[in-house]
Amino acid sequence: MTVRTRIAPSPTGDPHVGTAYIALFNLCFARQHGGQFILRIEDTDRQRSTTESEQMILDSLRWLGLEWDEGPDVGGPHGPYRQSERGDIYADYANQLVEKGYAFRCYRTSAELDELREARKAAGLHLALKPADLALDEDEQHRREAEGYPYVIRMHVPDEGVCEIDDMLRGRIEVDWAQVDAQILLKSDGMPTYHLANVVDDHLMGITHVLRGEEWINSAPKHKLLYEYFGWTLPQLCHMPLLRNPDKSKLSKRKNPTSINYYERMGFLPQAVLNYLGRMGWSMPDEREKFTLDEMMTSFDIQRVSLGGPVFDLDKLTWLNGVYIREDLDDAALLQALRTWAFNETYVSQILPQVRPRISTLSDVMPLAGHFFSGLPDIREESFSGIDLDRETLVSLLQFLIWRLESVPTWEKASLLEEVKRLAAHFDLKMKAFLAPVFVAVTGSAHSTSVLDAMAILGSDMTRARLRHAVDVLGGVSKKQAKRLEKQYRELR
Ligand code: GLU
Repeated sequence: MTVRTRIAPSPTGDPHVGTAYIALFNLCFARQHGGQFILRIEDTDRQRSTTESEQMILDSLRWLGLEWDEGPDVGGPHGPYRQSERGDIYADYANQLVEKGYAFRCYRTSAELDELREARKAAGLHLALKPADLALDEDEQHRREAEGYPYVIRMHVPDEGVCEIDDMLRGRIEVDWAQVDAQILLKSDGMPTYHLANVVDDHLMGITHVLRGEEWINSAPKHKLLYEYFGWTLPQLCHMPLLRNPDKSKLSKRKNPTSINYYERMGFLPQAVLNYLGRMGWSMPDEREKFTLDEMMTSFDIQRVSLGGPVFDLDKLTWLNGVYIREDLDDAALLQALRTWAFNETYVSQILPQVRPRISTLSDVMPLAGHFFSGLPDIREESFSGIDLDRETLVSLLQFLIWRLESVPTWEKASLLEEVKRLAAHFDLKMKAFLAPVFVAVTGSAHSTSVLDAMAILGSDMTRARLRHAVDVLGGVSKKQAKRLEKQYRELR
């Protein structure tokens, strides 16, 4: 048997370090067994998936030095590798299950579903809707069928008993069937859900081992059952520990930058980031901290993954990056790294129009444009003292802007301006007054090049990281405050 592993990202946002971490372990596992590693794009959620996000995911994994044997960009014998291009196969498989009696057409309306859930709640039952809850009496089912009501296809699941899952790291996991709902497989628009598409594709693509994050453990019973219904062999499952913030909570962009783009923009070396990801829950047999991808592949053993909850610690990563710079890069290599990072024509030429009107000598450039070549600016609470807004307003203004910027469709000046205008109106501030704290947060000073242009050039990740840093510098947001702000923010939208 040839070992085949895969990473199956959904292109719905920034390229996450967690995706790279899972990809790295899948790649090492495949290579250790002389097998293949596949990249598949799971873009069945048409509303949230974007081609920009897909491109960023591919680019950032490549930037890290990860390569796949088959994928949407490199092709392969099991393509297409983008679920949106795989046509009707999922609907065909869902219909096969209906014919065999393993799945059913469900004509329930969303109001009825709410009522059914309420009824379960009132009866003190788990909220997972079961086939028996959803069944309509025969006449009603026929009537809705005949009248062409919209329907979804759901899978049958047992009402009770225990589902046993064998996990490569965790041994036997038991999940009560009572907690497992009659999962939708095919939505009313004919698109598959994650569960159906993932199982069908893993099978058709010959995946033998599924290494994925532990957040998918609860999906495993549904997947196991689907494999049984289809009569296919279940791949070996392995649920990797989730990356954590230093306070042990799940790694989240609220507390840590999670986008690989941020690390690239910040001037981390890809080999150091990859090495650090390899240290997440795993260690080399000799426990050394610094190792290359090749060394990791050669010494790989999945059983060395510890389930303790690996902490993604920015300080440690920064330390390791420094070691790489000092030990591995001679002057020529360092110069090359700087060129690749920011001292190149593409990047610098974006900055020239910003500085040209403001300089008299070439030596004016660096002091003026330093923020384009730095990380988080050295600011403190006093940096905002010239601004006529109280601390609370400053924090909510910056926090609202961060949230707005998380969903701006295209990162370009015109869209940024739109967002800023809307928020300035909400705070009843003139643009100039609204932008004053943003200036300090993003450029580190009250007077600099145009802040909206700077945001456009710095990119989404670095801009948001700087705004977040400013919020921290202003004392941060307590949990209670965050709740209140979120409520106000929701009302605003
Ligand atoms: N599309 C899923 C994700 O975004 C894949 C999960 C899996 O590996 O099964 O993570």
